[in-house]
Amino acid sequence: MDQMVLNFEGKKQDFAGTFQKRTRWENVKAGLKTWGIFWLFALLFVFVPYVNISVFMIFIPLGPVSMGIVYLVSKKVIREIRGEALCPSCNSLFQVSENNVRAPIYGNCPHCRCNFEIIVPS
Ligand SMILES: [Zn+2]
Repeated sequence: MDQMVLNFEGKKQDFAGTFQKRTRWENVKAGLKTWGIFWLFALLFVFVPYVNISVFMIFIPLGPVSMGIVYLVSKKVIREIRGEALCPSCNSLFQVSENNVRAPIYGNCPHCRCNFEIIVPS
């Protein structure tokens, strides 16, 4: 498995934690949900006179388009990051725990509050 890296303001170090990405099906599901919402709106506007045609024309193509966008965004979501890291500025160990995050992922050391970025291999 590829290694994650912690970047402490330029000082990079290997991070022996575990991470879990979303599955393809979870990404598709997120996309389909958005598609469904747009078509639901389209369906509601069908019964509104005068605006129905134009709204229909907007919401119908927006369904698949939004699904594509949501799918691509969802693909980048990392479901879970767990691990123990060593802070280079105060030399203390601390737990890293993130859920449903997207790059760039930032955190800070609970002891000295120095910032770091978690770089997850793609
Ligand atoms: Zn620290």
